[in-house]
Amino acid sequence: MTAIRIDGATEAARLRGRVAEEVARLASAGIQPGLAVVLVGDDPASGVYVGSKKRLTVEVGMRSIDHVLPASTGERELLDLVAALNADPEVDGILVQLPLPAHIDAAKVLVAIDPDKDVDGFHPVNVGRLATGMPSLVPCTPQGCVRLAKTVLPDLAGLEAVVVGRSNIVGKPVAQLLLAESATVTIAHSRTRDLPEVCRRADILVAAVGRPEMIRGEWIRPGAVVIDVGINRVAGREPGKTRLVGDVAYAEAVAVAGAITPVPGGVGPMTIACLLANALQAACARRGLPLPAL
Ligand code: NAP
Repeated sequence: MTAIRIDGATEAARLRGRVAEEVARLASAGIQPGLAVVLVGDDPASGVYVGSKKRLTVEVGMRSIDHVLPASTGERELLDLVAALNADPEVDGILVQLPLPAHIDAAKVLVAIDPDKDVDGFHPVNVGRLATGMPSLVPCTPQGCVRLAKTVLPDLAGLEAVVVGRSNIVGKPVAQLLLAESATVTIAHSRTRDLPEVCRRADILVAAVGRPEMIRGEWIRPGAVVIDVGINRVAGREPGKTRLVGDVAYAEAVAVAGAITPVPGGVGPMTIACLLANALQAACARRGLPLPAL
């Protein structure tokens, strides 16, 4: 068997296209959603990521509001900026790029964001809304995982789902979303006994571990849908070169699974697309407009 390759780039482009259509509809009513991105310091990876967000925000027709601050910015100054963005009616979504410099308490900054503008979905109010089945802004990468799984398995009800990883930003929210889809969910982590056996139960296996190619082909149930969240940079085949691999041993898994996301080109591209979907959702919800199906 050779697994279906779940193409995250195509699905992300489709989702951004739907967001753009809805933004154009809002424009005809004189509304332009605004997404504010705050970058503190000069972490090169964050800089690249923020650049892509800005480009794609503008591409779907939203206003991109950028605040690039020096690494020396104080916590109070950043909290004051967040308060100003909370109060600004032109701003529908606020994203503070992580990691923040060590002298700033990231948790303090994230809880200062208005939950209704929290397009990352990390505020405890949104975590609680998700856990209790209330409408919420759902973290982007987990949302992307479930959107991709549903491209090949539209109805997840009753399926066995195993999520390897229990971080607040990926593992736990993915598990909540799968539970909301009525899957039977197991969350595995570093203390799980006999992880290969737990993984073999899965109709849907989500790997969010951060360990290159840890999940082997023989851990995968034949025909399972595998969503690989891992992004790990390892030594390349040529000296001095590097390459990206996931948390799943792709070459082995592709021979067993029914469908699988590649790395790169799987979950990765979905994150920004889901961020834009969240910004649109926040813009509609704040104005009491119906939320478009995306
Ligand atoms: P994290 O905070 O480091 O969490 C990793 C999780 O994996 C933890 O819950 C840990 O368990 C578990 N784990 C570690 N070693 C394990 C082992 N040997 N067996 C079983 N479980 C193990 O990582 P994260 O932020 O969730 O990110 C996970 C991966 O996704 C990373 O590769 C990251 O780069 C990637 N990622 C991608 C995107 C994207 O595509 N846009 C976004 C975010 C993250 P314990 O809790 O027991 O320690």
